[in-house]
Amino acid sequence: KMMTANEIRDSYLKFFESKGHVIVPSAPIVVKDDPTLMFTNAGMNQWKDIILGTKEPEPRRRTDSQKCLRVSGKHNDLEEVGRDSALSHHTMFEMLGNWSFGDYFKEGAIDYAYEYLVDVLHLDPKDLYVTVFEGDPAEGITRDDEAAGYWAKHFPENHIVNGNKHDNFWEMGDTGPCGPCSEIHIDFRSDEEKAKVPGEQLVNKDHPQVIEIWNIVFMQFNRKADGSLEPLKMHVIDTGLGFERLVRLLQGKNSNYDTDIFTPIIAEIERLSGKKYNHTFPEGPNGEGVNEEEKVDIAIRVVADHLRAVAFAIADGQLPSNAKAGYVIRRILRRAVRYSYTFLGQKQAFMYKLLPVLVREMGEAYPELKAQQELIGRVMKQEEESFLRTLENGIQLLTEDMDEMRAAGKKELDGSKAFRLFDTYGFPLDLTELILGENGFTVDEKQFDAEMAQQKARARNAAAVENGDWVVLRDGEQEFVGYDYTEYECHILRYRKVV
Ligand code: ATP
Ligand code: MG
Ligand code: MG
Ligand code: MG
Repeated sequence: KMMTANEIRDSYLKFFESKGHVIVPSAPIVVKDDPTLMFTNAGMNQWKDIILGTKEPEPRRRTDSQKCLRVSGKHNDLEEVGRDSALSHHTMFEMLGNWSFGDYFKEGAIDYAYEYLVDVLHLDPKDLYVTVFEGDPAEGITRDDEAAGYWAKHFPENHIVNGNKHDNFWEMGDTGPCGPCSEIHIDFRSDEEKAKVPGEQLVNKDHPQVIEIWNIVFMQFNRKADGSLEPLKMHVIDTGLGFERLVRLLQGKNSNYDTDIFTPIIAEIERLSGKKYNHTFPEGPNGEGVNEEEKVDIAIRVVADHLRAVAFAIADGQLPSNAKAGYVIRRILRRAVRYSYTFLGQKQAFMYKLLPVLVREMGEAYPELKAQQELIGRVMKQEEESFLRTLENGIQLLTEDMDEMRAAGKKELDGSKAFRLFDTYGFPLDLTELILGENGFTVDEKQFDAEMAQQKARARNAAAVENGDWVVLRDGEQEFVGYDYTEYECHILRYRKVV
């Protein structure tokens, strides 16, 4: 019998409870007391003080499912959503975690992970690959033979793969706790494909069917301000197992969106919009859809994903607004509106109608959704309606531009005009192109890109990049210095430390 998502979440928590861990609630997805981090982006965020040694570590074994949001800073997966090669990145997702604060270390963490995946969930160990840190001579760190040795109790050598600093060395920030990690990847290609290329060659290579599921961090060093490493007083185990990815494997699906985490939401989108979800993978070079079916599918995935991000953020008290975290949430909501407007034919508020299904599916695991349902729905609807009015204004402007072009016998819209639509009305280029195309016009993309590049350069100059899981601001308060743009259209907040 196939386990449901809710059963899988429970099985993880129960397993670690049976190993002496205390089940703790998820921290809020919105971070209120840390000027360097807007949203929780990993399970360990809420344990920062324990890890830094300023808070009691008892109980030393804990487990939870943490609501995460990766839309800013070091972890920004916004552009990946709905079109990454494995369809495995979300903005909001759940990270299952188990922690040891000065209790078990590498051997315990490795044995538990193996026991859970293979003995409890019955995943085939032949499909699993683990990575260990290859070492870094410049830092005087050798390969993590210790972890490799413990993995060797469970796996043959060819399933234990070396990984580089980027994938296999975790650092909290410029200073502070850090250490090597081991990640577990799963290969769910067909036997025929497996016979052609051994799985170990595809680990960490963005293959759609060889994906990372679990990061097990061994915090054993402290990085000092001068960049050197010293042993950490208390060893810490920090693990993050991607819930949506795990469910997808256990339910035998090719995409996270085909699990029962998403299918009820997608069914509701289909019912309300009359569009059909086609289960396509985006074939374009940057994960764009190349035809109508793929574009509709991307839009459906984006809406389903962003619904969760916005609902969870509002449930935890972050309303859409014009500044900081509130602005990020507003942009995510608007991004979903644009997709549903452009590709799902939704000219009226739409997303808020999906909320009852989300609450029905997730309200038990996250009661805050149920408790705040009325507020979330009301805020979403208002935001959608006000943005749709902005969109209509932009369309009005574009209509006038097209009238002028007709009068002048021009076929191509100035890039600067397209950029103004983007900047003032939030029109991404593809929406402008879509409307132009329907009327037999094109746009000067080069000029648009040039203006975008200028805008980005202005934003970059304005501030330093948020580049750690959090940034330690030693000299004083942070100052908000404006927005930057990601490749597509979302504003990213920039901070500068006040010296
Ligand atoms: P990836 O390489 O796939 O982007 P990551 O290395 O950035 O993942 P970690 O920071 O190691 O991810 O987080 C631990 C786990 O959380 C990952 O192994 C993965 O299962 C899950 N995860 C990370 N990012 C996402 C996301 N955007 N959506 C869903 N799950 C995610
Ligand atoms: Mg990532
Ligand atoms: Mg990774
Ligand atoms: Mg990882």
